[in-house]
Amino acid sequence: MDAADSFAFLLIFILLTFGTVFLIVSRYERQPALSWAAGYSLAALGFTGPALLFWLPVPLMALACDTLFIAAFFFYGQALLEQFRPEREADPGESRIARYFGAARFPGMRIGVAVTGFVAVACVVLVFGRLDLEVLVSDTACVLLLALPLVLCARRARHWLEAGLLVLAGLVVLETVLRNIVMAVLLQMPRQLEAFAASDYAAVMRICASFFGLLFALFALASVARDVLVRYRHAAECDPLTGMLNRRGFELAVESRGGPAGAVVVCDIDHFKRINDDYGHHHGDRVLVVMAGLLTRYLPANAVAARFGGEEFVILLPDYDLAEAAVLANMLRLAIASHAWRETGVDRQVTASFGCAAGIAADRSVHECIARADANLYAAKHDGRNRVIALAAPNERERPGAE
Ligand code: GH3
Ligand code: MG
Ligand code: MG
Repeated sequence: MDAADSFAFLLIFILLTFGTVFLIVSRYERQPALSWAAGYSLAALGFTGPALLFWLPVPLMALACDTLFIAAFFFYGQALLEQFRPEREADPGESRIARYFGAARFPGMRIGVAVTGFVAVACVVLVFGRLDLEVLVSDTACVLLLALPLVLCARRARHWLEAGLLVLAGLVVLETVLRNIVMAVLLQMPRQLEAFAASDYAAVMRICASFFGLLFALFALASVARDVLVRYRHAAECDPLTGMLNRRGFELAVESRGGPAGAVVVCDIDHFKRINDDYGHHHGDRVLVVMAGLLTRYLPANAVAARFGGEEFVILLPDYDLAEAAVLANMLRLAIASHAWRETGVDRQVTASFGCAAGIAADRSVHECIARADANLYAAKHDGRNRVIALAAPNERERPGAE
């Protein structure tokens, strides 16, 4: 085995490895990992073609390899469009195939480019038998299949990994175009199909495919892995019903802020059990969603708000003192008590009770402040509900500025 053969083998190994890795990742993040898996596996097969299909007449073998490369680039483009797709509601009536292609834009146009590319390659290979035209036509199809999604996704990068992915896609397009210009125009590409394997073009293509293919795959894999992590982290830290933070998300958010300085407001819906009992759990859920919207609408940007479970919400207001927290809590109480709840299908006025507490230096965690706010909430319930209580605990009063 000479150096060129070992290199070709290494390239196939790289492409197949990424095809397999993406296939495994697709169990966790179906799109775009499945499309990357298809793209890399098809490209690997394309490079394996001359060794596997040696028994075919050369024109047919060339056509088979070109078809695999065109299909690979179709899936690279599909993967890019899926990676950068805007959030889209799944239509339950859609078939699986329609859903797969619908996740990316212009599927019809891209399939059209792929099919036209295939027909054109078939013509130049089977009818004219010309290598120079075959390379030019199949590369043009591949470039178009990647360039169109690239144009559609430009400016959509959400972080540097995605920006890197787009830059690399651009470099693949640029390299393919330059390779064709240099090879076809300056170095005179041979015309016989049989001359391909030993041509400079084939050597340069393998080197570039290894280099860009590897980098492209690494950025694609990192982008997909990041999306998987973000999704799982979101699921672990957010309440799926209201979209607010859950208890764990709240604790991490407070921790990342460097501690619980400020004030805490605890809110609990009044007689929520009766809403469930009288209107059903579904309407109870809708009340919770609207309540979350009302609570977060009036909060300062740096507030940390969470649903702690059931119908209890906790809000950390950094830099607020007890009096300021009580004013805000009262505003929230009035917003809830005056909301048109009829629209949610609950034909009664929903109210909530609030307890407030200010953080003190002796607090070892935000939970100690929450416990004091809870005591005030309990008092608000006891006093008749739909009210705010912000009595300072004795140690809170020692704090300058506390009531
Ligand atoms: P109080 O004014 O004293 O707070 O009375 P309450 O009825 O609001 O409080 P209680 O603790 O007796 O009832 C809370 C109810 O919240 C009981 C439970 O079924 C309901 N609940 C908890 N989680 C959910 C949820 O996710 N969705 C719905 N619909 N109900 C929930
Ligand atoms: Mg309640
Ligand atoms: Mg409760």
